[in-house]
Amino acid sequence: MNYQQYFSDAISQLHQEDRYRVFQNIERIAGKFPQATWRHNDIEKEITLWCSNDYLGMGQNESVIEASVNAVRTMGAGAGGTRNIGGTHCLIVELEKELADLHDKEAALVFTSGFVSNEATISTIAKILPGCIIYSDSLNHASMIEGVRRSGAEKRIFRHNDVEHLESLLAADAPEVPKLIVFESVYSMDGDVGPIEAITDLAKRFNAMTYIDEVHAVGMYGPRGGGITQRDGLADRIDIIEGTMAKAFGVMGGYITGSANVIDTIRSYAASFIFTTTLPPGLIAAATASVRHLKNSRAERQQHKQQVALCKLLLKDRNIPILDAETHIIPVMVRDPALCKQASDILLQDFSIYIQPINYPTVPRGTERLRITPTPLHDEAACQHLAESLSAVWTRLGLPFETAPSKPEATVA
Ligand SMILES: *Cc1c(COP(=O)(O)O)cnc(C)c1O
Repeated sequence: MNYQQYFSDAISQLHQEDRYRVFQNIERIAGKFPQATWRHNDIEKEITLWCSNDYLGMGQNESVIEASVNAVRTMGAGAGGTRNIGGTHCLIVELEKELADLHDKEAALVFTSGFVSNEATISTIAKILPGCIIYSDSLNHASMIEGVRRSGAEKRIFRHNDVEHLESLLAADAPEVPKLIVFESVYSMDGDVGPIEAITDLAKRFNAMTYIDEVHAVGMYGPRGGGITQRDGLADRIDIIEGTMAKAFGVMGGYITGSANVIDTIRSYAASFIFTTTLPPGLIAAATASVRHLKNSRAERQQHKQQVALCKLLLKDRNIPILDAETHIIPVMVRDPALCKQASDILLQDFSIYIQPINYPTVPRGTERLRITPTPLHDEAACQHLAESLSAVWTRLGLPFETAPSKPEATVA
């Protein structure tokens, strides 16, 4: 048997479908965000990041860097063990308190990543509850889908943000069966927001537990950065709020918050929490500093909102086809995998703009896009340059512009 042939075939398949992933070699420059150095063959040049998940530039915030360096100097580079065996350092205990407080919950638990927190928590809850049925939004993130799969529980997929569909699914199952509804607040590919209040109403009526992924909202929304549930005063209606330190908080690591009882259960039963090494002091100290900063400072959120609004305005002025959702994520629709990759390549090579193409399976086929994430540090000139460059690329590739809203014909008096 030629084993290698199977791997070559698997890769060829991706090339044929124009969805082979190419990782750009990017070196972020501390203190110069959103600028970075791009290296490709013999080329080396400074580019502007327009697709970073470090939404507020907190990964380069002075106090965050300071905290990280101090922790490494005082406690060393690694944690030295799993949480259970020698790895529970004082900084992670402190961070968990900080996160529980951020969401007004009794307790919190930190994981290696947001991905692991979703996979571990959803699968563990559904295993603990006998005969549990999971109701999952059709656009949920891969990590939540993995949690649903791992649980082995029965699942019902409701159409994206479709409360009536969810209701009909809940109503069709026996009232006494344990139920878990899993969904997101900000959906990261379209930038839309889930109907949180309506879902919690249903949860109450059908006695279901609720689990929300606030990964794209923590640090960003709510007076203290506690996400959309905090902004809308709904946190106490949700059983488990999940988040990450890797996006607006600019560092790394995932977490859940909820009742002390649920958190203790996940801590005690979830394999991918138990059998892995604790995140190191430098990283945890940075995350804590970032969470604290964004709890107390609204300046980043305010500035961010302004820059997003400006960017949307400039893109619309040039009839670039954006999805105009209510959040900070601006998807520019290309609707073809090869053209999406080409547009991204031209932006990088000729305009020094980096926006990674988003193709299947991250988004459904036919909805390929460039996903733009302005930050408070993209100034007006950068936004102007982005709009002009996209317009030039659209013309060069013959991509369709948004048809301008018809204006009344000028009449000659
Ligand atoms: C990025 C992402 C995650 C995973 O978070 P990481 O901390 O990067 O592992 C989970 N959920 C959603 C919706 C995400 O976009």
